[in-house]
Amino acid sequence: MRLILLGPPGVGKGTQAQFLMDRLQAVQVSTGDLLRAAVREGTALGKDAKRYMDAGELVPDDVILGLIGEKMTELKGRSVIFDGFPRTVAQAEGLDRLMDGLGQQIDRVLELTVEDQVVIDRLSSRRSCPQCGAVFNLISAPPKVENVCDVCGHVGLIQRDDDKPEVIANRLRVYHDQTAPVAGYYHDRGNLVQADGLGSVEEVRSRVDSALAI
Ligand code: AMP
Repeated sequence: MRLILLGPPGVGKGTQAQFLMDRLQAVQVSTGDLLRAAVREGTALGKDAKRYMDAGELVPDDVILGLIGEKMTELKGRSVIFDGFPRTVAQAEGLDRLMDGLGQQIDRVLELTVEDQVVIDRLSSRRSCPQCGAVFNLISAPPKVENVCDVCGHVGLIQRDDDKPEVIANRLRVYHDQTAPVAGYYHDRGNLVQADGLGSVEEVRSRVDSALAI
């Protein structure tokens, strides 16, 4: 099973991917997480990518397709949930070529939808752990102990540079200009389903299950 999760930043793709991993016995492949890991490790790719990420711009397609190519080879045919990828039509086309080469295919594409204002509210209250990357939301999913990571115990949760208000506006603009057309790409191929991303994590989860009929 190869599933793509589409939708604006902060819509809840990462959260739903966690549930779907269990349900589908699949691995989550998040290009945002792969890039943030490269930034933390200080690799050349990470240093280069950081400029784009901090500005809320997209990292160039060839860099992203290179990362995905490596990851897919490493995963050797396991079921995959793509989160935050593809972000441009060129990435979607590149993914098709990669899948062809591996004798695999994209089975389902799920688009989660919400209004821009919801994205702005959610991203501004998002905090993450600089050590392990776990994500919290001060309003809807706060850590059990204030400012302490539930997963690894690190003290000092941070706001991602790209979750700051001025960058959020640019990420939304980039999403509408460059990523929204990707939904059309998969709609034309007949494998797009949609679910409303508004509401509690559980509400969205049950809509996702119905949309995917799992
Ligand atoms: P995310 O955590 O998915 O919101 O990604 C954070 C940032 O990483 C984005 O704002 C982009 O700068 C970059 N990024 C993540 N995935 C991609 C992608 N598929 N294509 C281009 N840039 C990406």
